[in-house]
Amino acid sequence: MQEKLRIAVQKSGRLSEDSLKLLKECGIGVPNGNNQLKINAENFDAEILFLRDDDIPEYVQDGVADIGFVGENVMLEKNKATDIVERLGYGKCRLSIALPKTRKKLAIKDLDGMKIATSYPFILNKWLKQNKIKADIHVISGSVEIAPRIGLADAICDLVSSGSTLFSNELYEFETILKSEAVLISGKKLSPARKQLLEKLLFRIRAVKKAKYNKYVLLNAPNKSIEKICAYLPGINSPTIIPLAKEGWSSVHSVISESDFWNVIEKLKAAGAEGILIIPIEKMIE
Ligand code: ATP
Ligand code: MG
Repeated sequence: MQEKLRIAVQKSGRLSEDSLKLLKECGIGVPNGNNQLKINAENFDAEILFLRDDDIPEYVQDGVADIGFVGENVMLEKNKATDIVERLGYGKCRLSIALPKTRKKLAIKDLDGMKIATSYPFILNKWLKQNKIKADIHVISGSVEIAPRIGLADAICDLVSSGSTLFSNELYEFETILKSEAVLISGKKLSPARKQLLEKLLFRIRAVKKAKYNKYVLLNAPNKSIEKICAYLPGINSPTIIPLAKEGWSSVHSVISESDFWNVIEKLKAAGAEGILIIPIEKMIE
C-alpha cells in the first residue's frame, strides 16, 4: 500500500484557514469532515490530522504526524526535536514584553526583580538569561493581558499583532523578544517514501509562494525605448518582445517582484511605456 504523508494542521484557530488554503493552492483538497480528527486528502497521498496547535510539535517529533503547520512561537516554546522546512509568510505576530502604561521610560535592566506573566516561559527565560535579567516568571495559559490589572504580575510577555488587546488593557509594548510567522515543521525520521512526498509538497509550496511575491507585467512601448524598458525588467530570464500591428511599437511581457513594482512602474512610464497591465501569477516554476 502507498504510504501517506501525515500532515498536522491546527483544528480551529488563527492558522487553520490559511494552512488549508495553502494546501488547496498546492492542489491538495481537504474535504469538509464533520469534526473529524483525521481525514484523507484529495489528489495527494496525504492524511490531514486536526490538532490543537500546542500539540503539533510533539506529535511531529514522535512521528504521529510527519509534518505540521504551526507558529514559530509554538515550535520554539515546545522545543521538540523538529526542523523548520519552510517559512510560510502568514500568521505573523510578535512575542513582546508589555508593561502598564503608568510605567514609562524603563530600560531593559529595570525588568530585574519583576514578576512577568506569560504562556511562553521557555522563550522568555532564554531571553532573560541572554539579557542577564533575573525576573520571576509566572506561567498562565490564557488571558495573560489581565494579569497586571488583577495584581498577579508587574509585566506580561504575550503575542501581539495589531496591539489592540494591549491598548484596551492599558498596557504598552515595551520590548519585542521574538518575531514569528507560520512555519512548516518536519520530524527527523521520515521514511524515504514520505520524504519524497514532502519534497513534492515543498516544490508546490515554493511555486505558490514565489507566485505571490511576483506579478506579470504587460506593456506597449515604442521600439526606440525597448532597450531602456528591458533594463528595468529583468524577468525570469529576459522579457518577451512581440511586435504590434502598430508600426514601430512592440508589446513587452515580463515578471517583476511585488516589492519593486511601484518604483519600476514609474520608470517604465517615464521611458515611454503605455497600456501597462499588472496581472497576478497563480504558480511560478523556474
Ligand atoms: P489552539 O486551540 O489550537 O491551542 P490557540 O488559541 O493556542 O489555539 P490561536 O489564537 O489560534 O491559538 O493562534 C495560533 C497562532 O497564530 C499563534 O500561535 C501565532 O503563531 C499566530 N498568531 C498570529 N497573530 C496572532 C495574535 N494576534 N495573537 C495570537 N496568535 C497569533
Ligand atoms: Mg494553543
